[in-house]
Amino acid sequence: MPKLSVSDVDCAGKRVLVRVDFNVPIEDGVITDDTRIERALPTINLLLEAGATVTLCSHLGRPKGEVVPDESLAPVATRLDEMVDAEVIMAPDCIGDDVTALRANLRADQVLMLENTRFHPGEKSNDPGFARALAGDAELFVDDAFGSTHRAHASTVGVTEHIDVCVAGLLVREELEKLQPCREASGEGFVVILGGAKVEDKIDAIRRLLPRAEKLIIGGAMAWAFFKARDMEIGTSLCKKKSLEAAEEIIATMGKYLDRMVLPVDVHMVQKEPDTGEMKFAAADAIEPGWDALDIGPETQALFGAAVRDAQIVFWNGPMGFFEKRPFDEGTRALALALAETDAYTVVGGGDSAAAIAQMGFEDEMSHVSTGGGASIEFVQGDALPGVDALDDK
Ligand code: ADP
Ligand code: MG
Repeated sequence: MPKLSVSDVDCAGKRVLVRVDFNVPIEDGVITDDTRIERALPTINLLLEAGATVTLCSHLGRPKGEVVPDESLAPVATRLDEMVDAEVIMAPDCIGDDVTALRANLRADQVLMLENTRFHPGEKSNDPGFARALAGDAELFVDDAFGSTHRAHASTVGVTEHIDVCVAGLLVREELEKLQPCREASGEGFVVILGGAKVEDKIDAIRRLLPRAEKLIIGGAMAWAFFKARDMEIGTSLCKKKSLEAAEEIIATMGKYLDRMVLPVDVHMVQKEPDTGEMKFAAADAIEPGWDALDIGPETQALFGAAVRDAQIVFWNGPMGFFEKRPFDEGTRALALALAETDAYTVVGGGDSAAAIAQMGFEDEMSHVSTGGGASIEFVQGDALPGVDALDDK
């Protein structure tokens, strides 16, 4: 790791601003998954034990630069209070006179949780004035929000202009170390699996990883875009115009690398027009009009599973089907099982894929499950992460 981390610097008595990723799912005011809070605890506890004064900032949801009460971090502060050995104080905002006073009076046995940074337009536009206010009186900045390191926002990049010492948190350090083998991997033994719904979101990843991977496996609704681009019948299966265009672009430009792409050979589909609800498996070239392919079929499970078994490094982002609804979770489950059983180094990234892995109980069987979707994919494909670049070198 070329960057300083929180364990390389003296934190004793320092006023510290920590960027965490507390973008947790909240339904009716209740946090439904606190994994992201848990993953930030090692850094928070290290700072508290060192006697630092800890102020936390994070975004939550997409409030578009204005106050959205449902996207307040208050429920997170309440949950965090139960998880750390310190009193957690919820700030009314993330900048302003009240917050400045709260920060000035903060004690080392307290933690201040600032309100959602995205309540201000200056967060996403990386406004210098907003960044300076957010930096406040901090002497040390710790970035532990791996899932946001690919975005040059005020709370990830802007604040580093105004704080003397800027270092990686323990989670960011762990993520970078665990993802590094995938970033360096190329050639035989490197298998990439992409799924989910939108080719257009992952077109860069396909373009960059196809020349490096031995096999690039495509599952999920993404695969139907490639089917359609080859004039195959996909019935009523999910395939937005943008996804189709992205698939066509890949086919038109990736020439000699295209034979590394592995697509499903069969599907699990349901009849939608007419809506009989009947389900059946079919070969990839036998999808019928009016049918909706919601998952890969058993032959594809075996094909993808074999590729994973023979691999040395596997990077997986995106579910293989509509995993939220049974039985269309079977393809994703079979792939998760293959990853759990292989001797390969296995990394899973992406909000939905990580959720599927956790829900199916395979989390501990993977070499690494990343807390970042976009950040993990951009790092693995070889891009710089602005939030990491902005930190101090060792
Ligand atoms: P991730 O968050 O892991 O990056 P995405 O957000 O790209 O993944 O895609 C996940 C979504 O894609 C899930 O909601 C899943 O239900 C959906 N999906 C995957 N395959 C299909 C399919 N065949 N038909 C409909 N939806 C699908
Ligand atoms: Mg998603």
